[in-house]
Amino acid sequence: ENKYQVVIIGGGPIGIACALEAEKKGLSYVILEKGCLVNSLYHYPTNMTFFSTSEKLELDNIPFISNNPKPGKREALEYYRRIATNNKVNIHLFEKVTAVRSNKKNTHTVITSKSEYEAENVIVATGFYDIPNYLGIKGEELPKVSHYYNDPHYYATQKTIVVGASNSAVDAALEIYRKGGDVTMIVRKPEIGERVKYWVRPDIINRIEEGSIKAYFNSSIKEIKENEVVLDTLQGEDILENDFVLLLTGYRPNFGFLQDMGIKLSDDGRKIPLYDEKTMETNVPGIFLAGVICGGVETHKWFIENSRIHAKIIMQTIDKKNTLLTE
Ligand code: FAD
Repeated sequence: ENKYQVVIIGGGPIGIACALEAEKKGLSYVILEKGCLVNSLYHYPTNMTFFSTSEKLELDNIPFISNNPKPGKREALEYYRRIATNNKVNIHLFEKVTAVRSNKKNTHTVITSKSEYEAENVIVATGFYDIPNYLGIKGEELPKVSHYYNDPHYYATQKTIVVGASNSAVDAALEIYRKGGDVTMIVRKPEIGERVKYWVRPDIINRIEEGSIKAYFNSSIKEIKENEVVLDTLQGEDILENDFVLLLTGYRPNFGFLQDMGIKLSDDGRKIPLYDEKTMETNVPGIFLAGVICGGVETHKWFIENSRIHAKIIMQTIDKKNTLLTE
């Protein structure tokens, strides 16, 4: 019944990569995913394109065929969905893991919103997209404020403030401007982020310079009100008329969830979970990390392209451990 050699928490690309590897090694496994299949990707902006070319997003060398130099969200959903269905990946959707308890005999109890599982090994591949970096400002909870951006049409003709200067903020600002929104960017730093895609950066800088998109640098929001927003700028307070606010200031992993299962985090502010790079095993024996979660607050460090390898490393480790036990 609910006993597995491997329980994988999170049905993102890396969770699925782990499942494919477990299958190859003949290990019994299940993925537990709190939302739909590749839930984070499903919630990405409708018109987003990946910065990676399609072959870099491939799992297990299964071809990702795209006619575009960089695939979009729809294509990626199709790709990961076909992998999951064609390979009959064992995944339970809409089942949230609430806690993991380690038992004396090196097994773990995985507690979910629907059931309980016993696992010899647990892989945490929960990503970072569920928890926004809240600014903690007055009015942040108003219905016109969102930490996620989906589609530009919604903002046509509307006075829209975009907070942030990284890829998601810049993409949203450009799209909304091109669909007739009246866009103002509020940027804490003196310039647009350095990590903004090199082919997009000149576009946003030129739109700001020509005045098509307004921008306040060295500025932040003090308060959001029903019809206006109060800014804190180098020149002092400023008040802007406003219809919608997009707070695209990044996301963070659920650190409490990791700590609760005994995983230690670095105390240098980066909150990097403690794990051995050679095995991906954390300080809790039998609990592994995979994917973007490995970076702590540095959520840009790991992505699909460079973390899909975690699946192989983990399964080799588990396989080796099992061989030693049976020898
Ligand atoms: P995720 O995809 O975030 O998957 C984690 C899953 O865990 C989610 O489905 C979530 O619902 C689930 N989960 C969380 N908590 C629980 C719980 N308690 N119980 C059960 N399930 C849970 N990377 C690239 O390599 N190339 C790109 O071009 C690229 N473009 C990007 C563009 C955008 C706009 C964004 C936001 C990201 C982009 N990335 C890209 C990054 C990439 O999407 C992530 O690094 C990738 O999704 C990481 O995969 P993952 O499986 O580790 O995590």
